[in-house]
Amino acid sequence: MSLVFEASPTVTVPVVGREDLFPVHRIYCVGRNYAAHAREMGKDPDRDPPFFFCKPADAIILDGEAVPYPPRTSNLHHEIELVVAIGEGGANIPEGQAEEHIFGYAVGNDITRRDLQLQARESGRPWDTGKAFDFSAAIAPIYPVSDYGHVREGEIVICVDGEVRQEADIRDLIWDVPEIVAELSTLFTLKPGDLIYTGTPAGVGAVEPGQTMVGRIAGLGELTNTVVAVRSP
Ligand code: MN
Repeated sequence: MSLVFEASPTVTVPVVGREDLFPVHRIYCVGRNYAAHAREMGKDPDRDPPFFFCKPADAIILDGEAVPYPPRTSNLHHEIELVVAIGEGGANIPEGQAEEHIFGYAVGNDITRRDLQLQARESGRPWDTGKAFDFSAAIAPIYPVSDYGHVREGEIVICVDGEVRQEADIRDLIWDVPEIVAELSTLFTLKPGDLIYTGTPAGVGAVEPGQTMVGRIAGLGELTNTVVAVRSP
């Protein structure tokens, strides 16, 4: 059967050491998964556990690509994050089996319209306008577990024009990676191609057109994106 118009192409992410690309299914994100970041957002991590939200797959932006400064914001924030790439789907995955479902790991940046996110939060509305906009999910090439193993510790850092903004260790995650996969899979059936942004450490802040964000996680290389002004039509 033919389509009434051409379907959008599958969104893909490069894989380190492979010709083949990783096809993106869904993008899940964890909110407030580092205690110091929960506190800087005005929340008590002991009373408010982490939680999930989503971005559309076509919000992906790759390493080296420019981030167009999005509309309707004056407070665009970087959020450096470890990304988990799911290779084998499942529901109700036990924590002890979570690693078997992971294809690889990457450096990600959960780019956020902070003003819209906080307006939504304060009024009890969904976060989509603050989180799920075009070009909001930056990701570097994926390091496959088969070649590079799992990521359970190591430095996570992001610099803006050479200045360190966020610096922490993967060990500081409130929910670690197996816990995230297990918990998420009780809410949604995970599919191959799902990406999970695991949350950001303290130090989030604004970026302006012309500034370059360089994120880095030990063992996973770098993610570089420059913010560019968009001419209004
Ligand atoms: Mn985030």
